[in-house]
Amino acid sequence: MSEAWRQRLADARADRQQAQRWRSRQVVASDSSSSALDFAGNDYLGLTQDPRVFEAQAEGARRFGAGAGASHLVSGHLEIHDALEEALARWTGRERALLFSTGYMANLGVLQALADRHTAIFQDRLNHASLIDGAVLSGARSRRFHHRDAIDLESLLARSECAHKLVVSDGVFSMDGDVADIASLVASAHRHHAWLMIDDAHGVGVLGDNGSGCVGSTWNSTEVPILVGTLGKALGTAGAFVAGDAELIEHLIQFSRSYIYTTAQPPAIAAATLKALEIVQGEPGHRVQLNANIAYFRREALLLGLPLNDSATPIQPLILGDEIRTLSWAAQLQQRGIHVGAIRPPTVPSGEARLRITLSAGHTRDHIDQLLAALTTCQREESLCLTHA
Ligand SMILES: *Cc1c(COP(=O)(O)O)cnc(C)c1O
Repeated sequence: MSEAWRQRLADARADRQQAQRWRSRQVVASDSSSSALDFAGNDYLGLTQDPRVFEAQAEGARRFGAGAGASHLVSGHLEIHDALEEALARWTGRERALLFSTGYMANLGVLQALADRHTAIFQDRLNHASLIDGAVLSGARSRRFHHRDAIDLESLLARSECAHKLVVSDGVFSMDGDVADIASLVASAHRHHAWLMIDDAHGVGVLGDNGSGCVGSTWNSTEVPILVGTLGKALGTAGAFVAGDAELIEHLIQFSRSYIYTTAQPPAIAAATLKALEIVQGEPGHRVQLNANIAYFRREALLLGLPLNDSATPIQPLILGDEIRTLSWAAQLQQRGIHVGAIRPPTVPSGEARLRITLSAGHTRDHIDQLLAALTTCQREESLCLTHA
């Protein structure tokens, strides 16, 4: 490494470390029966560990091979991919769906294919990083409205003279757990002849009558023309999809660079996802269990006076504010064998560091009680420190 490069990396590292924002990965034991209790992941229905899903993946690998071998437009678009796209379209009530290898790539691909410098993109402040990055990549003029603030969005839309306007929002906000006000987004977009794109990464599998998310069966493709869902969260596998009218999907196949210039996802993953989708649609009991777990956690946490956010979804952040405090709570939980996310800026705004606790249908009452007991200890030790200070 040249001295100039070495210095550059060292400076970046020093800055981050000084701000206490250096992150490190934890190696998770590969044995799924390992002891740590996971309240950090996005496996809301426990499907990553469902034998029916991973057996479908093993069987898919045997039938179709380990990889797709090429991109979708060359020779990598296999029958199983096509079958999954059809199933996803039917599930979300759209004409067609298109598979992407990850949600990050889906968002880059959609925004790059639809927007250019003659487009104005309006995004909720708390949208996922992939939406922010996609807007940059597209070269569009980007505006961010206050979180879930229809009035702010209205005034930005009214001031825009762009012929092509695109309103973009997360469905369920990934660090807060609250849900976008889809009705008011639909109304604003309609009033200003804008298109509306909802990224329902944390809603699909979890929300809605048939589990198809906060948009799926509630809002049609005239109201929400562009729907993104991911498959690595509640569906338990990997990848993502965009669902909408045939014309939109065909446009993405032609113009979306992150769709065109990448190898199709391994067909075994598509096979596993089809199985997961069958379970999500056929067994609403997992969602009932998940909702019971959410209600129980919230009721008990409220009694303990923990700083709950206004969230009815599996994402239940405790906003502690201070970054050091957040790290300290997470470390104490870790010592008791409980893993939660310690989320700090720049992922969330300054002063809003938090424990990101996520619940799953796979958690038992006993698991949640262990979490609550550990949180109580954090509270107690903190108040002891305060009285001794
Ligand atoms: C996780 C997430 C993504 C990225 O999906 P991946 O498949 O993990 O790349 C996109 N948008 C939102 C809102 C997410 O939470």
